[in-house]
Amino acid sequence: MAFTADRDQTLGFTTRQLHAGYNPDEDTYGSKAVPIYQSACYSLKDIDNCIDVFKFAKEGQSYSRFENPTNDVLERRIASLEGGARAVSFGSGMAAITNTILNLCRAGDNIVLVKTIYGGTTSLLTGILPQYGITGKFVSNPDDPEAFRAQIDEHTKALYVECLGNPLINVPDFEALSAVAHDAGIPLVIDNTFATPYLFRPFEHGADIVVYSATKYLCGHGTTIGGLVVEKGGFPWLNGKFPQFEAFNQKYRDWVGAEKMDREMFSQRLRQVYLCDVGANLSPVSAWLILQGIETLSLRMREHCKNAQAVAEFLEQ
Ligand SMILES: *Cc1c(COP(=O)(O)O)cnc(C)c1O
Repeated sequence: MAFTADRDQTLGFTTRQLHAGYNPDEDTYGSKAVPIYQSACYSLKDIDNCIDVFKFAKEGQSYSRFENPTNDVLERRIASLEGGARAVSFGSGMAAITNTILNLCRAGDNIVLVKTIYGGTTSLLTGILPQYGITGKFVSNPDDPEAFRAQIDEHTKALYVECLGNPLINVPDFEALSAVAHDAGIPLVIDNTFATPYLFRPFEHGADIVVYSATKYLCGHGTTIGGLVVEKGGFPWLNGKFPQFEAFNQKYRDWVGAEKMDREMFSQRLRQVYLCDVGANLSPVSAWLILQGIETLSLRMREHCKNAQAVAEFLEQ
C-alpha cells in the first residue's frame, strides 16, 4: 500500500504534525526519520536539467540557498498544518518578516500596522526600512478596524497584525480587518508566532499571509532560530496594485506553470527573488530541529494553555 500521509489533508492535525511533507518511500534509503541534507549544492545531471532547475521550471534542488530537501519538508509541514498553499523558510523570524515586507513593497510604499507589536518588527518599520523608502503607518487603536481603514492610502500594500498583541495580548478582529484589507485590494498579514496553527489558523479568519518566528513555540526547545512565511494561496496579486508581481508573472509564468503560479505567486517570488538573492536561508540542521519540535506541538501547546489557565485563576483570586 502506498504511503500517502505526507500529503493527505484529511488526516488530523496531530497526525500531520508527524507526517505532512515527508514520504519515506521517496527517500533514496527509505529513511523513516526526515534526513538532514547538509549539502550546499546538488548534482545537476545534465545541461537541460540544470537550466530547468535554475529557472524554477522544475522542482528540485540546485543550491541550498534557494531550496534544500530538509527545509522543503519543514515548508510542506507548516503549509499543511496552517491550511496554506505554500511556505518558505528563513534563517529567523525577523528574516521571514523583513523578506515578506520586501516582497510586498517598493520604495514609496507603506504597511499599516499597530504599535502593539514585536519590537523587532517595530524597529524594522520605524528605523530601517524607512531609509529605503518603505514606511510603517501606525494605527493608534488596534481594536478599531475603521482606524486601519483611515490609515490606508494608495501606496499601502498590506495590513499587518499579530494574533495576540504584544504586550497587551489583545486579539484583533481578524474578519473585520480582512474585509478592510480586501476592500483596498491588499492582503492581511498575521504574525501567528504565539498561537501556532494548533491554537489558531489565520487563513480560516481572513488572513492571506502568515509569518512565524519558528524559534518560539514551533521549535519549542530554545535550541534554534528560524522563521517561516506561509501563503493561503489565490490572492489576486495582478489586481493593479503590485507592479512587481505583474513583472514576475510575465517572466516566470510559462516556466513555473499557470496553475501553480496563480496558487502560490507570493511564495514563488519570495523564494526566487528574495531567498535566492538576499540569502537569509535557514540551515538544514535548524530545519530538522524545528521539525523535531513540531512533532510535539499539540502536546506542548495543551500544557501551555493549562499552565496559563492555572496562573489566570490564581491571579483572579
Ligand atoms: C521572536 C519574535 C519574532 C522574531 O523572531 P526571531 O526568530 O527571534 O527572529 C517575531 N515576532 C514575534 C511575535 C516574536 O515573538
